[in-house]
Amino acid sequence: MPPSPRPADPAAASGNSHALDDALRQRAARVVPGGMTGHLNAARLPPGYPQFFERGRGCHLWDVDGREFIDFMCSWGPNLLGHHHPEVEAAAARQAALGDCLNGPTARFVELAERLVGRIAHADWVMFQKNGTDATTVCATIARAATGRRKILVAQGAYHGSAPWCTPAPAGITPEDRAHFATYRYNDVASLEAAAAAAGSDLAGIFASAFKHDLGIDQELPSPVFARRARELCDAAGAALILDEVRAGYRLHPAGSWEPLGIRPDLSAWSKAIANGYALAAVTGVDALRDAATRIFTTGSFWAGGVAMAAALATSEVAEREDLVGHLERVGRRFRQGIAAQAASHGLAVRQSGPVQLPLILFDADPAFEMGSLFTAEALARGVYLHPKHNMFLSLAHTEADIDQALAATDDAFAVVAARHGR
Ligand SMILES: *Cc1c(COP(=O)(O)O)cnc(C)c1O
Repeated sequence: MPPSPRPADPAAASGNSHALDDALRQRAARVVPGGMTGHLNAARLPPGYPQFFERGRGCHLWDVDGREFIDFMCSWGPNLLGHHHPEVEAAAARQAALGDCLNGPTARFVELAERLVGRIAHADWVMFQKNGTDATTVCATIARAATGRRKILVAQGAYHGSAPWCTPAPAGITPEDRAHFATYRYNDVASLEAAAAAAGSDLAGIFASAFKHDLGIDQELPSPVFARRARELCDAAGAALILDEVRAGYRLHPAGSWEPLGIRPDLSAWSKAIANGYALAAVTGVDALRDAATRIFTTGSFWAGGVAMAAALATSEVAEREDLVGHLERVGRRFRQGIAAQAASHGLAVRQSGPVQLPLILFDADPAFEMGSLFTAEALARGVYLHPKHNMFLSLAHTEADIDQALAATDDAFAVVAARHGR
């Protein structure tokens, strides 16, 4: 029985309810540059968002001050089945009792590789890493090793990780780090053709995200024409088509996000959701690239750890057994329809784009995300953790009752936005 919607906590608004979080931030600021690195720095979020968390269960999350939220970020993707999913935790605990980091992999390594080759449509083989950045970097390396060429095409504004070749911040990066990465515009066939032509006989590979999910702008599913042209250009040039599945993987289609388009990549990079929160990444590839994948030297001290692989096996089993994609589509549609109806009833113009499984809510005429920030801060104060400009994520643990409880809070949050910004 879900608890009934709560009114906004006045203590939260006055700041009293995040005393422990504040204290941890102050301590962190002294011993960690900026207090926290990258996207997990809560200073990038509207006021009131916690930096530090205590625990998670299902689609619920508690911060260090004991505030409870319905979680629409899912650890920024990794939480696919729900925090602390019993089957995943049991599999991980069994493996942890035997050993995680040994002198080499466990049998889970082979079992998981077999499972992914069976599951992912284009995959003839698998290599494991830890983070999505590892996987995308390995993909670029394999494409170059296979072709003996240098140029890699990436979509403008697309996120592929935080290595020098792809990190969005310029600090500490030299032009040489990116000398052979050229850009095209996602879903723009002419720009893709022009970039491929400019790379000419030096084209090693083309990166595409599973769909366009760049920060702060409307999401776009890949157009069939764009996906097909990317495949054709790679075939014509003998280059590798590389699908970045790190964000979308498992949530759109069990066998690969471009399966509904009928386009198969040569390489795919996976991470985030594949082990339900345990650290694991994978590259899947086709036989034609097996030799190149064998020749590169790529490894990491923790890449063969058995616990994450046991968790990944359980994650894949549960996702397939429970029709994860169908569930995410159902609850995602319910959330999107509810948000659309509420915004309209408050006279607010919002845009929701991309697949319903990865919601994004942007307000019209809100270039500085003022309305979006107010909306999400008000939702947070009512126990719903949303993001004002990054795509969000749903999980198998989100029930229709959770969605409805969240919608009760967003209705009130919209009312606050309408009172301040409405016409
Ligand atoms: C998160 C992400 C990455 C990087 O993954 P990390 O595990 O953070 O290194 C790469 N590509 C996409 C599309 C992502 O969303």
